[in-house]
Amino acid sequence: MKPFGYLRARTTDEAVSAMTRHPGAVFLGGGTNLIDLMKLGVATPDLLVDVRGLPLDQVADTSDGGLRIGATVRNSDLAAHHAVRTRYPALSQALLSGASGQLRNTATTGGNLLQRTRCPYFQDVSKPCNKRVPGTGCPAREGTHRDLAVIGHSEACVATHPSDMAVALSALDATVQLYGPDGERSVPVTDFHRLPGDTPDRDTVIRPGELITEVLLPPRPEGTVSVYRKARDRASYAFALASVAAVVTARDGRIEHAALAFGGLAHRPWRARAAEEVLRGAATTDDTFTRAVDAELAAARPLRDNAFKVELARSLAVDALAALTARN
Ligand SMILES: Cc1cc2nc3c(=O)[nH]c(=O)nc-3n(C[C@H](O)[C@H](O)[C@H](O)COP(=O)(O)OP(=O)(O)OC[C@H]3O[C@@H](n4cnc5c(N)ncnc54)[C@H](O)[C@@H]3O)c2cc1C
Ligand code: SF4
Repeated sequence: MKPFGYLRARTTDEAVSAMTRHPGAVFLGGGTNLIDLMKLGVATPDLLVDVRGLPLDQVADTSDGGLRIGATVRNSDLAAHHAVRTRYPALSQALLSGASGQLRNTATTGGNLLQRTRCPYFQDVSKPCNKRVPGTGCPAREGTHRDLAVIGHSEACVATHPSDMAVALSALDATVQLYGPDGERSVPVTDFHRLPGDTPDRDTVIRPGELITEVLLPPRPEGTVSVYRKARDRASYAFALASVAAVVTARDGRIEHAALAFGGLAHRPWRARAAEEVLRGAATTDDTFTRAVDAELAAARPLRDNAFKVELARSLAVDALAALTARN
């Protein structure tokens, strides 16, 4: 491993100014992804700016009835938080479906959003990979791609985004708060992660030196229910082959609001706008759910070995919608 410096930041200004002064610096959250990538030689920072001492470790109500989640809140603490479990259960379920208890005790909200793909070629510096070294090619397209993307991929990259939490945040219309050299800004989670296009080396729209300070959840309309479902190769400690977060408000057998996001299918959490269009105002029947999910997944373009993920996603989403609306 290459030698590197370490700085424990005490304020957000200190953290951001360290990034400006040291072009080879990166933020360190729980380190559960970054340190692994450093050991593999995929990440080679000169300086780690540890953000865990920043005052960003609280979950609090906002004045409009939403929730404010600090960037250094641990995944375990967030999953167990009473407001999350009762008002945003899809988020709690998504977190608990990820990694292991020990990892969740260490992993942070900011780091989880920025964790990198598990594509095997990305993690192997002896192999070409457009995401790791732009212009070198994408061996996954013809090689090992069973776990990779079925929708929204490009010639340049077929990787998937691994975070479960981000899928729930996408369906819950959360916003990422950023603080960087040019000040503060907010980005909806749905716009935070990118599709690969010709520049798969950029996972998100985050700018150099920007720190995630918090994630904001909007208030939950009366009667809203939500759920996260995940299919994987074993019951724990495994990334999603396909997953879905569904958020629904239904009354008298009709859907007033529905938000659906898929995980494990694309380079970013895949917000299912075409499905939502079909669901809005429709009757809460299996026929509606199937038509809605099919409208979304018609855009899927599976690779040689991963068409099964489309069927998995379809079943998960139809079941999730049926379960959420069973009593309306
Ligand atoms: C064996 C294993 C199984 C796993 N299974 C799953 C799973 O099933 N589902 C799942 O979702 N995840 C899974 N994970 C991934 C795990 O959830 C992530 O490693 C973790 O969430 C990353 O958080 P962290 O705080 O440790 O990030 P770090 O490793 O510290 O950082 C990750 C990235 O975020 C950046 N960063 C960190 N904090 C900030 C900030 N505040 N602002 C800006 N940049 C920041 C870092 O510079 C780095 O680029 C698994 C991990 C392992 C090792
Ligand atoms: S899918 Fe993306 S991350 Fe994987 S080898 Fe291709 S370019 Fe690299």
